[in-house]
Amino acid sequence: MTYQSINPYNGTVLKTFEELTDKQLEIAIKAAEQCFETWRHTSFAARSAVLKRAAAILRSRVEDFARPITLEMGKLLEESRGEVALSADIIDYYAENAERFLAPQQLSPASGEATIESSPFGVLFGVEPWNFPYYQLARFVAPNLMAGNVVLVKHASNVPQCAIAFAELFMEAGAPLGAYTNLLISKEQVTRVIADPRIKGVALTGSEAAGAIVAGQAGGALKKSTMELGGSDAFIVLEDADLDETVRWALWGRINNAGQCCVAAKRFIVVEEIADRFLEKFTRAMDGLKMGDPLDKTTTLAPLSSKQALSNLVDQVNRSVAKGAHIVLGGKQVGESGAFMQPTILTDIEPGNPAYTEEFFGPVALFFRVPNEDAAVALANDSSFGLGGSVFTRDIARGKRVASRVDTGMMFINHPTWTAADLPFGGIKHSGYGRELSSLGIQEFVNKKLIRVADIHAPA
Ligand code: NAP
Repeated sequence: MTYQSINPYNGTVLKTFEELTDKQLEIAIKAAEQCFETWRHTSFAARSAVLKRAAAILRSRVEDFARPITLEMGKLLEESRGEVALSADIIDYYAENAERFLAPQQLSPASGEATIESSPFGVLFGVEPWNFPYYQLARFVAPNLMAGNVVLVKHASNVPQCAIAFAELFMEAGAPLGAYTNLLISKEQVTRVIADPRIKGVALTGSEAAGAIVAGQAGGALKKSTMELGGSDAFIVLEDADLDETVRWALWGRINNAGQCCVAAKRFIVVEEIADRFLEKFTRAMDGLKMGDPLDKTTTLAPLSSKQALSNLVDQVNRSVAKGAHIVLGGKQVGESGAFMQPTILTDIEPGNPAYTEEFFGPVALFFRVPNEDAAVALANDSSFGLGGSVFTRDIARGKRVASRVDTGMMFINHPTWTAADLPFGGIKHSGYGRELSSLGIQEFVNKKLIRVADIHAPA
């Protein structure tokens, strides 16, 4: 039984789910294929009406949707509510803007006429992670349904209730059978779905390891894919930063979602002049967090998503310390019943240390002291990841210059990397390729087709 809801706060098994049989999977793919033939010709207005209803249902039942997130993967209830609202915003955004984003584009060739039309690919397959159980789905499902594609989704095995609830939301909103199907399937079935000629594109959000496998399978079948993978975002603090505000964002950037964000601030790269003062305040702030039940309003640090996630993180800390890193704060798991990790800060991290290269998915901050701005940029870029990053300075022009020099897909000034429906999201290097959200996200799985009108009498 691979699909299971386990409350990471106390280890209680809430529900287990059967995987689809091959026969059920075949029925789902056939339904998607058939649905595409009508959905692709459904007007933008009609598709938009379905998505608008889905967003409205989310907003009207925030609590019903938020609680399963917290119960299955452990995030603070207030953060779950925020995720429900953000997912509704994304769905509305594409409902309102898709037609404009995909409008035919007139070119100005030297002679005659030329137009680029956008047409949907067909049945798409998404593989999604647990850390934002609805938001990740909204990023993939909303633009693609609006583009006229239909979607099959394999969600992470620890959030099946969220996976089912989100697919049912679209059915309730009036999406036809086959427009959006949740698949509780094995990895072996995933391989077969990707290879199936009826599947026209593949999107994965998840770890580098899963990305390499799924991208390889999609590439082998010559299918377009997008990969939204891990990151180790630099949080650069220049000597002229507003220290109190910077520490406030450093804390939020590292511990929101219990530190399990692809774009969490992970590497704190601080210029020498301000480094001691930053570290002292940041350590105090991290030490002040209160672990507890994520349903309790007073809790400020939630458990990790699972016991396995906890033991992986503890192992990373132990390996880093064995290679010379120094623990300023925390470093250990807390208790046995819940998946809690102490807020942790590591310093003295040299090249070759696991903390120098690996992604730490939890409340573990990696602190680096650098002599100046140039050294900060060089260290930020010395990573196989290239997702997001941030720079803190009172001088916005300087912040922009630094941001331009960091090799990532997203850079923020005076805020940790974050997300909104109208901002593109994605990375470079081992953080993947392609973009989700904004006007870019809807263009990934559409055919940009040239229609050319030529003069039949033109010389050859
Ligand atoms: P994960 O283990 O890679 O899982 C992600 C999804 O891939 C799950 O549905 C998982 O299914 C599936 N999967 C894993 N191995 C697979 C394989 N061999 N074949 C087919 N499917 C496979 O990642 P995670 O631990 O859930 O999520 C955390 C990672 O996602 C972090 O690295 C984080 O930075 C990254 N992330 C990136 C973004 C972004 O936009 N760039 C956003 C969020 C998260 P099972 O659950 O059944 O294993």
